[in-house]
Amino acid sequence: MNFGDLAYTDIEARHGAVHLLPLGATEPHGPHAPLSTDTLISTGICRRVAERLRGEIDILVLPPLPYGVTRYGSAFPGALSISEGTLRALVEEITQDLRPVVLVNSHFEPEQVATLRESGLPLLDLTRRAYADRLTEEFRSGSCHAGRYETSLVLADHPELVNRKLMAGLETRTVDMPTAIGEGRTDFLAMGMDAAYCGSPAEATPEEGVETYETLTDMLVELVREVAAR
Ligand SMILES: [Zn+2]
Repeated sequence: MNFGDLAYTDIEARHGAVHLLPLGATEPHGPHAPLSTDTLISTGICRRVAERLRGEIDILVLPPLPYGVTRYGSAFPGALSISEGTLRALVEEITQDLRPVVLVNSHFEPEQVATLRESGLPLLDLTRRAYADRLTEEFRSGSCHAGRYETSLVLADHPELVNRKLMAGLETRTVDMPTAIGEGRTDFLAMGMDAAYCGSPAEATPEEGVETYETLTDMLVELVREVAAR
């Protein structure tokens, strides 16, 4: 199911498969969670969807794109941003010979999301109300960068990448990111995120992560079925 694990001779037999491109970012996610959090989440959703749809729809998961438009965390070490133009070109050029293809994004900086929407490709866009409404309370609150929502997802698949001791000591930081961004506060420090997180990371659990992945998998399965039926 991983495109990159196949030999070229395998690809022909997979004609008609739905390609999933996991998109993330390399950006600070609190002192407790990895820079690759968003990329790991997108990859985790794609893997589950491929397993769920086995025998129904052939799925090929492309190598993830671990860089995104990520400027808000630039005051911290570890934020490696690319521009909108670079993201657009990467997505276009990587996917140009691959149809059908679905973009699976877990990095929600507005410039990242807008660029992916503009590609015109089917996109799992969790910032859409219809999707967000099915996710956890913290996610819906918009105070959810490296908080309970994202940290739980990392704990579900990669517990070794979370510093649980540090995590347990992090106080809840309530920051309405969409509102802050709307008011022009577009870096973590100006938003009051002086440790590059908001939400409640101390409340994260692997069990919640597994449950959230179920919901995310449901959503992407629905989208992939739509795309495959076109
Ligand atoms: Zn994130």
